[in-house]
Amino acid sequence: MQTSSTKRIYKHNPEPEKTFAEQFETVGDDYYEYNWDYYEPPAEEPSRPRPRAQSGSRFSWGRFIAAFLLTIPILTLIVPAGWMHYHAYMREHRHFPPLSDEMQAVCTRVLNGAPEELEVSLSNAVQPQRLQQDMQRIVGEIGNRFVASDGDEAVREYVLQQLAALEYSEQDGSLYTLPFTIDIEATRERWVKKEKDEEEEEDSEWSSLERSSDHAGPGDVEGAPDETQDEDEFDEDDYELIIETYHIYYDSESVVAVRPTKVQNPGIVVISAHLDTVYDTDGAIDNGSGVAALLETARVLSASRQDFGVEIRFCFFSGEELGMHGASNYLDTLSEEERARHIGMINIDMAACSNNGIPKAFSVSTYGRNTGSGYETGSFAHPANNAVSSAAIEAFSINSFGVPRLYAPIHWEKNDLRPFHRAGIDAITISWREIDPSRAITNFNIASPLVMHTTDDRLDTMDMQSLEQTARLTVATFERFARHHRRPDIRILGERG
Ligand SMILES: [Zn+2]
Repeated sequence: MQTSSTKRIYKHNPEPEKTFAEQFETVGDDYYEYNWDYYEPPAEEPSRPRPRAQSGSRFSWGRFIAAFLLTIPILTLIVPAGWMHYHAYMREHRHFPPLSDEMQAVCTRVLNGAPEELEVSLSNAVQPQRLQQDMQRIVGEIGNRFVASDGDEAVREYVLQQLAALEYSEQDGSLYTLPFTIDIEATRERWVKKEKDEEEEEDSEWSSLERSSDHAGPGDVEGAPDETQDEDEFDEDDYELIIETYHIYYDSESVVAVRPTKVQNPGIVVISAHLDTVYDTDGAIDNGSGVAALLETARVLSASRQDFGVEIRFCFFSGEELGMHGASNYLDTLSEEERARHIGMINIDMAACSNNGIPKAFSVSTYGRNTGSGYETGSFAHPANNAVSSAAIEAFSINSFGVPRLYAPIHWEKNDLRPFHRAGIDAITISWREIDPSRAITNFNIASPLVMHTTDDRLDTMDMQSLEQTARLTVATFERFARHHRRPDIRILGERG
């Protein structure tokens, strides 16, 4: 630690070309490492005597008036143009805004060895090498994780191990699994009914756009004989084929780890990702990346001594690809009282993008919001901005982790946020999507990645940096959200050993 009395200016400087270790300064605690570089103000140059005025440069009223007249076009034309240009630029590139006084003060305290005072940016404790290890294990070694397969069991085993290492335990109930059975026949009936209801409900144009960006659904079962069918278009034949080709019943389990708070009857925040893949893919992006981002989020938040004032449930849901079964099952197990304490959900699905060169959209999607006097559903034209998406946008405005733009909120429900939305809980899904340049209107031109649910969704086609950015945004979003919901009696949880 530097102890000079020189006044320093702290400057946020992630320097992506540097290695992770080079970016971070250890301040005595593994989980409070910050990439706030400081620099000394340059020493003032010794003042040099001014050259004497030449005899030709004597004051003249003519020159004075000419100079004055010259300032008029500068003030009236150039300055406003520059001002507008600056603001247009800042709107487009909102990353790394100047530090607020508050952030300056926080950095000073952290660098002076008081990390527990820091509540702004635990996201800097995300470690890319741990994400890489998780990806190697989940995608490189385990691979396909279709419900009820060996991979399904292996990934759960791995997640349980990682959570046990964070001292979540089955003995004290802070770690548990939720078994459920998927009944394809019953699921089919539900889907048929839902499709009908929704089509009647929504304007047909919006509805077809929505289906074009679908995520999960019956056609997602890769390897089902009719693969060429548009995966998101509902077709009853698909179900017949699924039933003929595969089992009718699938057993699986979700994993839940609970991080407590000392607050009585606390609000509950779910942070989730789905463990399963479709039938025939390694699922690096969908959703090995989400599982890795969630594990890393759990590590960072669990290691923090801060009592966030809300209970966190890290939920690793299974059965998403066959119709959000894990998430629905989780909600079904809650008592009415417990459900009512759920104040928000941050879901991570497709936490990374592929390196295929198609323009990407770092996105936060919603489907509805609590208004205070009720719950309303958004639409493609007017996506709902709820309490959780606001927190995500706020977090991104403080630090965008090098991503030029966050598309938020966008309207998309074909992922585990749907059951939460239907339960009236403010929910978001953080996701990397792709931009379809053939459509001009923002929010309508954001589509699921091309590699989704294909054999190309592999570790070697995935971009690691985007995964790191998602993990950081997830932590930062939770921090902002919890801060807005915290109650006054916040304290520090037990000392770490
Ligand atoms: Zn998914």
